[in-house]
Amino acid sequence: MKFDVIVIGGGPAGMSAALESARNGSKTVIIERNSFLGGILKQCIHNGFGLHYFKEELTGPEFAKRFIDLVEKEKNITIMTNTFVTKINGTNVEVSNDKGAFEINGKALVLAMGCRERTAGNILLTGSRPSGIMTAGEAQRLVNIHGKLPGKEVVILGSGDIGLIMARRLTLQGAKVKAVMEINPTTSGLRRNIVQCLDDFNIPLLMQTSIFDVVGSSRVEGIYYGQVDDKYNRIDSSKKFMSCDLIVLSVGLVPETDLVDLPLSKVTKSVFVDNNLQTAESGVFACGNFLHVHDLVDNVALESKLAGIKASEYAKGKLKKSCEYRVEAGKGISYVVPSSITNNLCEIEIRFRIRQKVTKTNFVLLDNLGNVIAKKYVLASLPGEMQTITVKAGVIKSDVTLAVEGL
Ligand SMILES: Cc1cc2nc3c(=O)[nH]c(=O)nc-3n(C[C@H](O)[C@H](O)[C@H](O)COP(=O)(O)OP(=O)(O)OC[C@H]3O[C@@H](n4cnc5c(N)ncnc54)[C@H](O)[C@@H]3O)c2cc1C
Repeated sequence: MKFDVIVIGGGPAGMSAALESARNGSKTVIIERNSFLGGILKQCIHNGFGLHYFKEELTGPEFAKRFIDLVEKEKNITIMTNTFVTKINGTNVEVSNDKGAFEINGKALVLAMGCRERTAGNILLTGSRPSGIMTAGEAQRLVNIHGKLPGKEVVILGSGDIGLIMARRLTLQGAKVKAVMEINPTTSGLRRNIVQCLDDFNIPLLMQTSIFDVVGSSRVEGIYYGQVDDKYNRIDSSKKFMSCDLIVLSVGLVPETDLVDLPLSKVTKSVFVDNNLQTAESGVFACGNFLHVHDLVDNVALESKLAGIKASEYAKGKLKKSCEYRVEAGKGISYVVPSSITNNLCEIEIRFRIRQKVTKTNFVLLDNLGNVIAKKYVLASLPGEMQTITVKAGVIKSDVTLAVEGL
């Protein structure tokens, strides 16, 4: 099988990239291991999606359906569901499905495989491994897809958006969420989710707090928990017991990079890309949660458009390099995407996250002489929020550094 552009992953990132590639005239295939398109959105039945992209408030499945309808109508797109990509060779892939194992050739490849959740093993949660410990995604699937309530007294570890959303979801479904515990001094969840998912339901958010031990043999019966210091050391004198029969883990997402053999960022845990979202491997592009964990699916869809357009241009031999400059994360910045600029012929969006909460400050992009070449003022920003700064065409003429002004 031969295509101009192969897209791995049929979530919002993959569908958005495939749509743009196909609209650009490239024969495009979406390869998805599930039996359906939509990725993780299928189980996110709450609203709040689509405000930026569709200018409407949609649920996750509604947001996904908008894209599925467009993708299914597009004649340049072939959809292969129930098909697992098992190996990547340059811009070609090996897949496995009910017809067997075979290779698909592409002139360009888009990596849109999303993330997986960190588990109890990843965070070395101690105890006798009783049942009743699961990730937020598993709990979400049980409640929203299978109609099952996985516990009655719940402790949620991690105050990222998925944990917050699940605190409200389990409460509405009849469970008692006794606390959300966050090991850091600040939450990575959006402010609106803290208010709407915790404050509105009187669910306590315990900061710099973690689970020390899990109690229970066949089923979770409770936890010993307590405070941690700035270096995450346990403060044993603060140790207390809380009964519960379910521990929900919302302790981070890890990009699905197992198939790629490229250098990975220590911060994003994913590949490095240039401003065309092209990786170090020529013709291989990356987008969506695979590239860096996004706060809003709207941003996933917008970013992935670029990957689709550029993959299509590459397949046609039209993607040109005119320069090669580095983009560094400077003071106060945790990471930047892209990490290099290979042409600044058009406007460039640099996406990034900050290290600590800031108020009434500027984000500044500095050239190699320290001159400010782009600036963005924010009233307030938290580490969990993805930020963007726009750089005009032709402005970048050296390596650049993004920083929080005044740090
Ligand atoms: C459990 C969970 C809950 C979330 N809840 C929310 C929420 O409530 N609100 C919100 O805004 N965001 C939420 N998110 C974030 C959400 O993931 C992103 O906003 C968005 O769905 C990311 O889109 P994506 O296409 O990059 O990834 P995904 O939606 O994860 O799609 C990736 C797709 O790639 C496929 N894939 C991966 N590897 C292969 C392979 N080898 N072969 C074939 N196919 C493959 C997967 O099956 C999947 O369909 C949640 C994320 C998770 C993990």
